[in-house]
Amino acid sequence: MPRNKAEAIDKKQYPEFRELLENRKKTLLQHIENVGAELNYLDQSRPPELSEEAQEEAAAISLKALDQRERQELEDINLALEKIDDETFGSCESCEEPIGLTRLKILPSVRYCIACQTKIEERGKHKGSF
Ligand SMILES: [Zn+2]
Repeated sequence: MPRNKAEAIDKKQYPEFRELLENRKKTLLQHIENVGAELNYLDQSRPPELSEEAQEEAAAISLKALDQRERQELEDINLALEKIDDETFGSCESCEEPIGLTRLKILPSVRYCIACQTKIEERGKHKGSF
């Protein structure tokens, strides 16, 4: 049974979202490149014996986590761009209901409606992405 589809995305808005996604993708790619360079630099440092080095190690770990999150988002963005091509963009991957315009505007690469996202997060999957 269809729920309220009032705020579903109109296909006329696809170009607007494509642009949002492309811009976000560019930013992410650039940032991943920077983080990669930073990680290479940190990896060259010796094993931590001093507190300063331990701090660098901690920085490397958080950079790696950030890197992973951004790569995940990049994957989601590529998926979203494919969905624009397929004209399925804006629908939840799980229940196929409209994700909602407000949610899409905040995060155009989002894959699930808020209800499904909550369920998925409760199962502990897709940590860090929403
Ligand atoms: Zn859903």
